[in-house]
Amino acid sequence: MSVLDKYSDKMLENYTNNPQGRYVSLLLVRRIESEAIFRTEGSGEAQNKEFVHAGLEDQSLIRRVVISKRKQTAAERRTGRELLRRHGLLYEGEGGEGLCALNTNNPCGQCIDCMIYGYAAGGGGAQKSRVITDDAFSLHPASTITDVRTFNAPFEDGTPWDREREQRMTGLGSDEYVKPEAFFLEIETLKDMTPDELRYVLGNLLRTTRYGAISSRIGKVKNLLTGIAFSNCELFSNLELTQAVYDRLKGDANELEFPLVTQAVVSTARDAARALSQRVVGSVVWVPADEVDTLVDELIDLYSDDAEVEAMLGRVSY
Ligand SMILES: [Zn+2]
Repeated sequence: MSVLDKYSDKMLENYTNNPQGRYVSLLLVRRIESEAIFRTEGSGEAQNKEFVHAGLEDQSLIRRVVISKRKQTAAERRTGRELLRRHGLLYEGEGGEGLCALNTNNPCGQCIDCMIYGYAAGGGGAQKSRVITDDAFSLHPASTITDVRTFNAPFEDGTPWDREREQRMTGLGSDEYVKPEAFFLEIETLKDMTPDELRYVLGNLLRTTRYGAISSRIGKVKNLLTGIAFSNCELFSNLELTQAVYDRLKGDANELEFPLVTQAVVSTARDAARALSQRVVGSVVWVPADEVDTLVDELIDLYSDDAEVEAMLGRVSY
């Protein structure tokens, strides 16, 4: 018996295109595991940062590194689509350009990815995404978790120097990166899922390790599934969650320690999320922490067995 069987009444038996208002919120701790860059390299754009309040109680202003919601789901979709491609479950796109593809405006409108993460076809077919995310904010201030690394360009007084053109290089020789052991907290909200659709989305989350630009995908990330809640409404924002966890971890200290012990972040995120959800107007049921851990074990078993994966994907139909 799967952990999810206990909660089958919170999900759908079969997909329907009439919204049912059954929400599954995944509480995620994203842990950076190598020097990471979350912007498009070579584009000249800077790492996204925002001035926000440090905590819900600590009202000082800090700058946080932001990972855009698009970056997050794009990486997870790629992971899922590789799986679908391997099992022959991507179909002829509506644009007539071959198999369903994300970036060429050629969605098929029938595969699991199109039906869960949404699509819009030129011909008029469309599906709203049932995966709702928000930008994610770093737990620590940007000044704590970022640094600038200079690459092998030759230097004159600290600025990269282009010898061929005899001029200073503009940012080409250096890149700002997020340090290993930085954390980003997130709630990913799913709507009207069947248990197997949920397993598919969870598999994508747990198997995605690269969120950087497609070209080099600098930066390894480990996604820790920290909590699951079933509800009849959306819960709270990533920023609110991040600020609540910041307050709790910082306590009376002058600043939040870095690096932090992962388990401390995970258990604090669990406590903070439960506390915040008490202020949500709606019914919220959190899956106990030991059941979440059991579910992760189940998913590890499932995804290690190709025949099981095939059977699971085969049960999803539209
Ligand atoms: Zn498709």
